[in-house]
Amino acid sequence: MRAARSVFVLTGAGVSAESGVPTFRGGGGAPLWKGMPFDVISSAGMAARDLPAVWEWFDYRRDLLQSLSPNPAHATLARWQDKFETFTLATQNVDGLHNAAGSREVFELHGNIWRARCLSCEERVDVRELESRERPPLCRLCGDSMRPDVVLFGELLPPGVYEQAASRAMGCDLCIVAGTSALVYPAADLPVLAKRAGAFLVEVNPERTPLSEFCDEALERKAGEVLPLLDF
Ligand code: NAD
Ligand code: ZN
Repeated sequence: MRAARSVFVLTGAGVSAESGVPTFRGGGGAPLWKGMPFDVISSAGMAARDLPAVWEWFDYRRDLLQSLSPNPAHATLARWQDKFETFTLATQNVDGLHNAAGSREVFELHGNIWRARCLSCEERVDVRELESRERPPLCRLCGDSMRPDVVLFGELLPPGVYEQAASRAMGCDLCIVAGTSALVYPAADLPVLAKRAGAFLVEVNPERTPLSEFCDEALERKAGEVLPLLDF
């Protein structure tokens, strides 16, 4: 840690688990909402068929998130942004807890649950600032419907974000991947790109993942416990 000049961190749902946010795969079993598996209600097909139902699901998730706070893993990562020559934080999480902890620049690979975007134009809004509870909300610029600004199952990542994160990953000398099952692509490729380009790769996850064997170190502990220990 002391020798590292350029650090790249990729986080997943496990980093928010200690804040009380349920992970998708970590807990075993397939969660259902109103009888629908999460990968159906969170899919591009559902957004096309029934956008109000998708809004209802995301409103429900936001209501759960509202009272949750960042944990020591988020806090440690926020401190690191000022400790290295270059520091990059990329996350698969949509919960906004890295921002809440004070991280200024976060590469949000899968979007952000607090943001909505217009189906037709580039307009984006913070859902907390919407005046009406109308669902779907209508764009104040063009009047079309808005949708959660989150990558749904069956969709591509927002243009450019992965490419920028990949370029940072390939330039780092220390890569830490924390709280991800490393099953969701292309995010799971980022630590692989980092290591192939010469970085030392560390995984933080109480369970082993497909990436564990490939890592230089696999720390089988909770992110909220182990990341503060790496702090200096
Ligand atoms: P995942 O649910 O597939 O895997 C979670 C991983 O975290 C597991 O490997 C588990 O062993 C590990 N884990 C559990 N508790 C941990 C802890 N305290 N410390 C460290 N690791 C811990 O999550 P994923 O790999 O991020 O992929 C899930 C997808 O679902 C992502 O694309 C993400 O967008 C979305 N998602 C987001 C959130 C969120 O925003 N918080 C929550 C669930 C799912
Ligand atoms: Zn619009």
